[in-house]
Amino acid sequence: MRARDLLRSRPEGLYCPPGDFFIDPIKPVDRALITHGHSDHARSGHGSVLATQQTLDIMGLRYGTPFAGTTQAAAFGETFDLNGVRVTFHPAGHVLGSAQIAVERGGLRIVASGDYKRQPDPTCVAFELVPCDVFITEATFGLPVFRHPPDREEIGRVLRSATQFPERSHVIGAYALGKAQRVIRLLRDCGYDRPIYIHGALETLSAYYRSQGVELGRLEPATVDRSTKDDFAGAIVIGPPAAFADRWSRRFPDPISCFASGWMRIRQRARQGGVELPLIISDHADWDELTDTIKETGASEVWVTHGREEALVRWCELAGIAARPLHLVGYEDEGD
Ligand SMILES: [Zn+2]
Repeated sequence: MRARDLLRSRPEGLYCPPGDFFIDPIKPVDRALITHGHSDHARSGHGSVLATQQTLDIMGLRYGTPFAGTTQAAAFGETFDLNGVRVTFHPAGHVLGSAQIAVERGGLRIVASGDYKRQPDPTCVAFELVPCDVFITEATFGLPVFRHPPDREEIGRVLRSATQFPERSHVIGAYALGKAQRVIRLLRDCGYDRPIYIHGALETLSAYYRSQGVELGRLEPATVDRSTKDDFAGAIVIGPPAAFADRWSRRFPDPISCFASGWMRIRQRARQGGVELPLIISDHADWDELTDTIKETGASEVWVTHGREEALVRWCELAGIAARPLHLVGYEDEGD
């Protein structure tokens, strides 16, 4: 069986003709398999959704229920037969519940990895390497300039700054699903035991992470009025990117604006966003993780999607691996 007969791109997303299902479709379809809960991958309105229980829970929290006609939970490693196509979910290490989806028929295995990373992350199950014939990889940070430093080093910079400027608040921008909880957990792992103040937009998902056994320590609402402004002197506050855009962070005393994203590698981008303390913490694979993972899967063919496809396609060609960009529209990951 040829790979493009097993999976191909359609305007709605990645489609499996024999199985008659889509992976992470951007438009409502009859049958969707969903890799993870970020909003560009997990949309509401499908006839049926197959995803991990945590991804289903996260979709329910974000969209309300019912968000699909029917839902079915996939455990990691469990095999499903969809019209003669074998489907299995494997951990992707991206955010809580995130999965790669392996699709097999007639001795051919394609792995759609969704978004993934290899750096250890205490808030989700680690990436599992799945040997395959065709590997579909993201390329969000698919340029050699993108190399993510160890996340604890980045968190250490916040903690040193907090010690150096005890009267100032540190306001960290982080995506609501995954990044925020990872930053909180990293602060705890680095010994920070004071309350951490969170924007209201982070409350539901942070409570869900806790319910799944991710310890986050004491969290307090970051609610400021004139009488309490001084209470935030020296505090660490976390809010979603949108809150930064509306200048929410300026409510806090003499705030030092921090932002946690792989894009913070680009100084100009940090400066344009008014970020004083950029933190290079990403939930996506960096260049080395992308190229190492491609090699380790043993795939003879690679399809590259959402991001900087050209550089990674070129790297594959130089490494003797057939590669092509998979032109899927509509992905602009909310969790970089
Ligand atoms: Zn994502």
